[in-house]
Amino acid sequence: MLPVADFSLHAPRSLEEAAATLARYEGEARPIAGGTALVLMIRQGLIAPPAVVRLDRVPNLATIAVEDGWLRLGALATLRAVGESPLVRQHLPLLAGACTLVGNVRVRNAATIGGNLCEADYASDPPGVLVALDARVRVVGQAGAREVAVADLIQDFYETSLAPDELVAEVRVPLPAAGTRGAYLKYVTRSSEDRPCVGATGLVRLDASGAIADLRVAIGAVAGQPLRLPAVEAQARGQQPTDELFAALGEQYAAAVDPVGDARGSATYRKRMVGVFVRRALREALSGTPGARKV
Ligand SMILES: Cc1cc2nc3c(=O)[nH]c(=O)nc-3n(C[C@H](O)[C@H](O)[C@H](O)COP(=O)(O)OP(=O)(O)OC[C@H]3O[C@@H](n4cnc5c(N)ncnc54)[C@H](O)[C@@H]3O)c2cc1C
Repeated sequence: MLPVADFSLHAPRSLEEAAATLARYEGEARPIAGGTALVLMIRQGLIAPPAVVRLDRVPNLATIAVEDGWLRLGALATLRAVGESPLVRQHLPLLAGACTLVGNVRVRNAATIGGNLCEADYASDPPGVLVALDARVRVVGQAGAREVAVADLIQDFYETSLAPDELVAEVRVPLPAAGTRGAYLKYVTRSSEDRPCVGATGLVRLDASGAIADLRVAIGAVAGQPLRLPAVEAQARGQQPTDELFAALGEQYAAAVDPVGDARGSATYRKRMVGVFVRRALREALSGTPGARKV
């Protein structure tokens, strides 16, 4: 028999009211967005919050807009809305593509970009892509609003840096410089599996001479946080974008990663695949094929 969930349901009309409600429960209450993760956790008896704070009555939390060089995604924008948005497809096809690869259409219809980040499940697609894009989140709590990099929001497996009274209100993504090419490869090891074994994002921009002006790599789904190695990225600048260089960068990412082992792949296997998929993501980015694909 499924455990009976018994909790108070709150429906605040503003972020301030939501933060105040969360504060009253001193870290025991949970916000709910699409519910695709939270409801499962409650029904499986993994958590039993005394209160659930729904966010869907807070106005303007699902906005998708481009302003002053930034893409702004309201925390309640669903992964389907992000994936299908003409604005996101035009400005950040990589992110749109990664969102359309999440789970299935029923999940994407309900799951939100804010919920995806705040769940901090390592086996997710959007977090690694957002870390590669230097995305930030606007966080609102009782003390006011602050901005934090997605790389600092996700601390570890299912752990964020949010205080008990804080909510993610918006995801903000700087639009990459003109000429930036990107690719996201979602490596799935089992035919019945939605979630990635390795998610590799590569971004490359060349200068007028054909040398690398900017290169970024983030690896998701292998450890508690998406992995980025700024010192390794910096080595690539000024170099020619050869397959040998991409393979060498992949080896450095593979050496640095401390992967988890699970049903999708052992830690040893994942380490090797990190090397392979860094090289492939950079090669695909360079080839100019925009967006994301499952492999
Ligand atoms: C069948 C299935 C397949 C899936 N496949 C994939 C996949 O391939 N790739 C992938 O990336 N993910 C996958 N997922 C995970 C899915 O993307 C997440 O469950 C979803 O994104 C969570 O968003 P939500 O809005 O439903 O969050 P909820 O379930 O509502 O919340 C998740 C957590 O975040 C907190 N939270 C929610 N919103 C906020 C906020 N604004 N501020 C602070 N805290 C908040 C909640 O309290 C809760 O702890 C899959 C899920 C299912 C069920």
